[in-house]
Amino acid sequence: MSATPAEFDQWGRPFGVLRISLTARCNLACSYCCPDVKDPPGLLDLDQQLRLIRVACGLGLQTLRLTGGEPLLSNRLLPLLEALAAGRADAADPLARLRDVALTTNGVLLTLEKALALRAAGLDRITVSLDALEGEVVAKMAGLRGGTRAGEQLVEQVLGGLTAARDAGFDPACGGLKLNAVMRRGLNDAQLLPLAQLARDRGVELRLIEYMDVGNRNGWAPDQVISAEEMIQSIDARWPLQSMPRRAGATARQWRYVDGRGCIGVIASITEPFCGDCNRLRVTADGQAYTCLFASEGTDLRPFLQSEEALEAVLRGLWRQRRDRYSEERQGITASARHAEMAYLGG
Ligand code: SAM
Ligand code: SF4
Repeated sequence: MSATPAEFDQWGRPFGVLRISLTARCNLACSYCCPDVKDPPGLLDLDQQLRLIRVACGLGLQTLRLTGGEPLLSNRLLPLLEALAAGRADAADPLARLRDVALTTNGVLLTLEKALALRAAGLDRITVSLDALEGEVVAKMAGLRGGTRAGEQLVEQVLGGLTAARDAGFDPACGGLKLNAVMRRGLNDAQLLPLAQLARDRGVELRLIEYMDVGNRNGWAPDQVISAEEMIQSIDARWPLQSMPRRAGATARQWRYVDGRGCIGVIASITEPFCGDCNRLRVTADGQAYTCLFASEGTDLRPFLQSEEALEAVLRGLWRQRRDRYSEERQGITASARHAEMAYLGG
């Protein structure tokens, strides 16, 4: 099925990416994210998730990202992937327009068995998050109570998850497997080069994320941000880099290693905001839609989830009226402005 012409918002930005958080819970407690210990009432069921994705396909959706909280904790993940695969195989189904289904996970539960099941169910890409390789630092970043030893165990599990994903057929050379790291000044600064080294050794693209002021719980302050420029300079001094042209709608700016050993990406939503071509809609596990990661209020989709027509009307209206560009306007917004939490929005 050919792609549907996308809906455009007030700034002429086309709709193209939907991120659905499957749960607000997590098996880690990263200090920059602060997830919930239990889910809110009213989680979307499989039919509602499918209806939402199908309707979004009719509005131009091409890339679906499943996230959380920790999506591998959700028993809805595999049934959803299987149902999506069935729809994508049917040329008459709007789901056939989906080009790409991706997952973001902390990798703790990513055994080979799980990775094979995800692959068999039709998942195209996995991004695994890991912020450090040194046990003590990982423990601090991930909010582990067991100190260095617990951090070392976590690194072992996550690296095992990366290996499992590759062995299950998520090919890093084709962008099928990536590594995310949030860099936070005073915590994991010294882990930048070890993480880059690991990613180079494994042929995986490392995506470095500036610590963002999402949510109200993490106590974000500007001096905790390590800028994209600083990260790139440090890596470039060790392994020279060459910048790559920016792809429209992409969150990350990319650099390739001059020695031919792959590339890295940097998500610089604090120091180099990229609202200009943002094509993303985020829906929380309990059905709140946000057009911006930094928004304070979402739109409750639950009253519309039983009917494709109603859902289409509300999503179309939401996108057409969209004017947000918080990252670019951040300077003029008070520090006390409330934001939705990251574990609901899913990154
Ligand atoms: N639990 C999964 C994981 O950690 O990959 C998926 C959900 S997590 C919210 C998605 C991504 O958001 C992760 O890569 C995480 O590092 C990133 N993230 C969370 N809080 C952040 C923050 N305040 N600033 C920047 N990135 C953040
Ligand atoms: Fe959990 Fe991911 Fe948030 Fe860390 S970033 S607490 S792994 S949801």
